[in-house]
Parts: sequence; C-alpha cells; structure tokens
Amino acid sequence: MSESYIETYYRDTLNTNNPREALTSDHDTEICVIGGGLAGLSTAIGLVEKGKKVTLIEANRIGWGASGRNGGYIAKGYAQGYKQLMKMVGLEHTKDLHKLSTHGRALIKEKIKKYNIDCGPIKNGVLGVSWNNHPEKVKEYIEWMRDDLNAPLEYWSTEKVREACKTERYYAGFYSPEDYQFHPLNYVHGLASAIEGHGGKIFEATKADKIDERPDGGYTVNTANGKIKCDQVVLCCSIYVDDLNKKLKYAAFPVYTYVMVTKPIDGALLDTALNTDYAIFDNRYAQDYYRRLPDNRILWGGRVSVTGVPKNLAEIMKQDLLKVYPQLAGAVEPEYAWGGSLCYAPHKMPQIGQLKPGYWYNTCFGGHGLVPTSVGGDVVSSAIAEGDERYKLFEPFSKLWFAGGPLSPYIAQSVYYAWRARDVMISGFSDFKPSFLGKK
Ligand SMILES: Cc1cc2nc3c(=O)[nH]c(=O)nc-3n(C[C@H](O)[C@H](O)[C@H](O)COP(=O)(O)OP(=O)(O)OC[C@H]3O[C@@H](n4cnc5c(N)ncnc54)[C@H](O)[C@@H]3O)c2cc1C
Repeated sequence: MSESYIETYYRDTLNTNNPREALTSDHDTEICVIGGGLAGLSTAIGLVEKGKKVTLIEANRIGWGASGRNGGYIAKGYAQGYKQLMKMVGLEHTKDLHKLSTHGRALIKEKIKKYNIDCGPIKNGVLGVSWNNHPEKVKEYIEWMRDDLNAPLEYWSTEKVREACKTERYYAGFYSPEDYQFHPLNYVHGLASAIEGHGGKIFEATKADKIDERPDGGYTVNTANGKIKCDQVVLCCSIYVDDLNKKLKYAAFPVYTYVMVTKPIDGALLDTALNTDYAIFDNRYAQDYYRRLPDNRILWGGRVSVTGVPKNLAEIMKQDLLKVYPQLAGAVEPEYAWGGSLCYAPHKMPQIGQLKPGYWYNTCFGGHGLVPTSVGGDVVSSAIAEGDERYKLFEPFSKLWFAGGPLSPYIAQSVYYAWRARDVMISGFSDFKPSFLGKK
C-alpha cells in the first residue's frame, strides 16, 4: 500500500490533496465498493445519488492507479475498436454500446457541472491524424462512423492537419468535436467530495484482503483494521485485484503505458510545431497521443511494456516527440515522466457483471477507460439501485476467460513488438482506435 501519489504533473497541480483516513474499526453499510479509481468512484456516485448507503475503500489514495495518471482524453468508444466490436456482437449491439459510450461521456460533463468540479481546462475537440497518406480511407471511416453510429466526425485534409500539427509525419485525419480533455486527478477528487456530500464514506489506505459470503446472503469485506458488513459488494480493483478474487485475476493481463510532460516551452516556438490545443492521436498501432497544456507544456503519451518503468523513460519519450516535431530540438526538456498499469481482457472490452447475487465486478478498462468507467459505474449502480438491465449489454464480454496467467504479460509484450514491426513495415492504413495505450 502507498499513502502518497507517485510524482506526476497531475499530483503537483491538484487543487486539494488532503488524505482521507483509513478504516480502523468494524463498519456496516449497504454497498461496499472496493477500489478508488474512476470505476469505483463512478459506481459510488451513481449509488449515493440513488439514495444508497455506500462505503468505498481504496488501498492507496483515490486515483492512485491509472485514473490519476492518464492522458486526460475523454473520448467515446472502448479499447476494442467499433469495427471489431461489430464483428464480435453485430451492428445493433455495437450501436447500443456506442449509445452508452456517448451517454457516459456526457455523464462526466454532467457531474463536473452538477458538483462544480474544478478539473479544467476542459477543452472540446480531439484530432485523429494518419501516419500514412490514405485520405480515401479516412473518408470511408468517417462515413462509416456517421452512417452506422451517428458519430459526427469532420474530415481534415493533410493541409489542414499540418496547419495544426506542423509536421510532415502526418496526413489527413478527422476532428471529433464532442470528445474533450480534462485534469483527471482533479476530477477524481471532485467526484470523491460529491460522494461524501451525499453521505457516502471513503476510506483510503484500506485494502480489502478477503471477502466472505455470509449465511444471510450478504458479504463481509475483511481489511487489516476492520470488517465491513454489507449487502452487496462491487469490485473495481483493475489489475491490482490479485488474490482478492482469483477468477478476475486470471481473466486479465497487465500492461504498462507512459506519459511525459515537458517544462513550459516558449509559446511562439511551440506554435511552430503544435499549433493547436486540441488533443491529438495518430492511427498507428504503436500510437502517440499528446496535447498542449495551458502553460505551454506538452503532455506526451505512448508506448507499452510489461516490464515496468524504464530508467530512461523521460529521454525515450522526448525522442518520440522529436521524431514528430524535430523543430523543437533543444527546446524540449522533460519535467515529469511516469508509467501506469492497465487492465486488459483478451477481448479488450470491460468486464462488467455479477459473479453471484450481490457480488459485482466492474473492471478491465484497458487503455481507453475514462468514458467506459463512467459507463460501468452508471450501469452497475442503476442495476443495484433500480434493477436496470443495461449492464447485460456487456454479457458477451463477462465470461472471465483465462488470459494466460503468469505468461500473459509476455504474450502482451510480443503482441506489442509485432504491432511496432507492423507500423515500420507496412505503410497501409489502420482504422482510428483511440486507445491511449499505444497499441492494440
Ligand atoms: C499512462 C496512461 C494513460 C492513459 N490515458 C487515457 C486517456 O487519455 N483516456 C482514457 O480514456 N483512458 C486512458 N487511460 C486508461 C484509463 O486511465 C483507465 O482505463 C482507467 O482509469 C481505469 O480505471 P479503474 O478504476 O478501473 O482502475 P484504477 O484507476 O487503476 O483504479 C483501481 C484502484 O483499485 C485499488 N485497489 C485494487 N485492489 C484493491 C483492494 N484489494 N482494496 C482496495 N483498493 C484496491 C487500487 O489501489 C487502484 O487505486 C490511460 C491509462 C494510463 C496508465
């Protein structure tokens, strides 16, 4: 357990950073949510808003995991791309999942407004750019998204893309007006305060060690310094679930991914490279995603590995940036560089469902989790409080397939290398799948 955040730009720009107390005695509640990332917090806010008595426990600090370390892109969709999803579950089901996703994206803005959460600047507009010159494929993709999924995307020619991103690396792309960016850790803290405002309890530095089923149908969550008696339990532990639930542990594999934030760069110089404050991502399997921060820093994300955080991460990320914007050589100095762990299922979709009555899981949001955690929190809280069955849209992905056990990280790494090789060797077109991961 860690009682402090790792060093990130987000930690150092938090509005308030007051730790919450740990659980020190036995405690009764209706629903115990385990895990204080956005999956847990989104579930808890949905429950308290519907009048439920909720206790959330977090082993470290709220937002300590991926939820406080990510790129801050709020974009529709799932880690699995829509075209692949259509092959898996058909068009109508994909349309329903897409509707949920756009609802989840709107829900985040709704919470920000309702609870006056200071997690800006909130900037609408995400730009997907091509690494290869296939404008007709970009147009096809935009049409498909518009006609089949009713997603408004605007075509940007190579010239227009290069006015915003002054690099010869990029070709035509699309502008997504309704996706946006924010400060994820300030959002986490705002959501937590809102939960407490409704009477919900949050304990940090409190790890769930074991869950016992009681004869009356309820559950007891055991922690080092107290037991929580509850009617229902929701596991939102991501890749850290470990032996708390072995089925969930073996149904997912961990992947590390990275972010670097530069020191502020002279504004006029930055305009000669990244001349926009839209959030950018490219369409390679080994994709870069990045955005200009208000004080003229660049937040640069990408790459994956299974071996943790390389010692020279800052330099590696800087070189990735300079490959796209060589004109910034000499002006880019990394100030922060960090990694975070993602939770992937083999199908790359969230795992949402019940293991037994009242024992819920809401996890596996991969590299594209900000909107999907909002969706997961919404459908699970509505199912518990109101019997809503929308969570069943995730049934095709809730089977908890074995994901490779101890070998899974190495399988994931090999796939990543294959993706990178593919980027190098093939100059073809990959559909846009904003994963904020680096690959898929
Ligand atoms: C570098 C990086 C960049 C990313 N960029 C983006 C992006 O721009 N857009 C996007 O949509 N997605 C992005 N993602 C993915 C997104 O951040 C995740 O999918 C999402 O935050 C997952 O939320 P979560 O709540 O499931 O997991 P986490 O945020 O990891 O939270 C899980 C929490 O559960 C706690 N926990 C686990 N076990 C226990 C236990 N036994 N008892 C108590 N607590 C426990 C952990 O301490 C942890 O805090 C990125 C991720 C990373 C790492």
